[in-house]
Amino acid sequence: MFDMIAFDADDTLWHNEKNYHEAKKQFAQILSKYQDTEYARRRLEEFEVHNIDIYGYGIKMFTLSMVESAIDLSDGKIKAREIQKIIDISKEMLTNEVELFEHAVETLAILAPRFDLMLITKGDHFEQERKIVRSAISGYFRDIEIVTEKSQEHYQALMAKYNIHPNRFLMVGNSLRSDIQPVIAIGGRAVYIPNEYTWFHENLPKEEVDPTAYVELEHIAQLPNLIDQLMKDESTSIMQP
Ligand SMILES: [Mg+2]
Repeated sequence: MFDMIAFDADDTLWHNEKNYHEAKKQFAQILSKYQDTEYARRRLEEFEVHNIDIYGYGIKMFTLSMVESAIDLSDGKIKAREIQKIIDISKEMLTNEVELFEHAVETLAILAPRFDLMLITKGDHFEQERKIVRSAISGYFRDIEIVTEKSQEHYQALMAKYNIHPNRFLMVGNSLRSDIQPVIAIGGRAVYIPNEYTWFHENLPKEEVDPTAYVELEHIAQLPNLIDQLMKDESTSIMQP
């Protein structure tokens, strides 16, 4: 039995990374008079990784990374009006409507009457809070946690805060690095639902995660049946001598 079923939000319940994908294309286009577009994208990603520790996750960090890499890629020649175009890309991202995944709402509506649900999302508090409000799904969750990082220690702290045994905790998400690996490492259960777009930083080589320790689904709509199956398997194994 599960005491808590937790969901990641970005690219698990709503689209996120495809907005970044589109923004990076526009960024590379602005920089194309200075640099090859593929190289511009790679350099931007290097700045992003470096800047996580300084600014944390989210669009504001991404904006500063675009500005910084534009200066670098143009060898200081980037024009003020081009910087403004870069800032406009990120403003549009920040004010975009939240686009929920197909079947996300139906799945939450099936599970919410039966289980306590939690939303665990990582990133900039202001930004994530706005997406939660705009998504209009907060009513399905008993608890909502916006965290700065999703490490083993962060999950352990959440288990302690809500008094949950990891064995009775199930995490659903699209990131092996943030939603799956740290949860199974503390003895929790995890369901991996890969998404077409996942930020390179959230990827882990699949061989680094024990494939028998989590379940992979193609689509969130398959989740209620899977949970029924997991609970059935559990009760059969308890009944065995
Ligand atoms: Mg995610």
